Amino acid sequence: MASSDNTHWRPAYIGLGSNLQGPAGQLESAIDSLATIRRTRLIKRSALYRSAPFGGIEQPDYVNAVAAMLTALDARELLDELQQIESRRGRQRDEVRWGPRVIDLDLLVFANLSTDEPGLVVPHPGIAERNFVLLPLKEIAPGLVIPGLGPVANLPVNMDEPQIARIE
Ligand code: ATP
Ligand code: CA
Ligand code: CA
Repeated sequence: MASSDNTHWRPAYIGLGSNLQGPAGQLESAIDSLATIRRTRLIKRSALYRSAPFGGIEQPDYVNAVAAMLTALDARELLDELQQIESRRGRQRDEVRWGPRVIDLDLLVFANLSTDEPGLVVPHPGIAERNFVLLPLKEIAPGLVIPGLGPVANLPVNMDEPQIARIE
């Protein structure tokens, strides 16, 4: 590699979810797509987890997972890449919030970034409340320290949340 290369690789964690059109296959395909994002490497992925829907809307169960990346993109560029993958896989952007979807890719954590601006909230505000994020994150990154939340291993699993099961 050229000595002028000053690329800075930063860790990013992505939350994946689907409850339409073969959710497990949707997640596997989306993980393959994550691995092709420019200036980015897929480092690790969790198992798949099945969870009851969140948000009070009657809809099929979800399949969820988390992926760990290293990226030379900034957070907005990476989120833009995630939204392009969602669009390519048939995600409609006018769906109801928390309604059924073929694929949802959330930027959970981006290095030590802590920001709340239009179109970009990082760390993602749902992490601590959502077992479908916490359990796969505990599987692949228990030592991750999330800005404002602390180490993943110390975050309690929510006992009053919908049931979640690892898919073997
Ligand atoms: P939730 O964000 O509560 O999980 P959702 O995933 O259903 O809900 P979407 O409809 O997918 O919400 O996204 C709504 C908007 O959130 C998007 O337009 C996106 O720009 C914005 N957004 C802000 N921060 C993030 C982030 N960290 N990851 C993903 N989208 C984000
Ligand atoms: Ca989401
Ligand atoms: Ca989303």
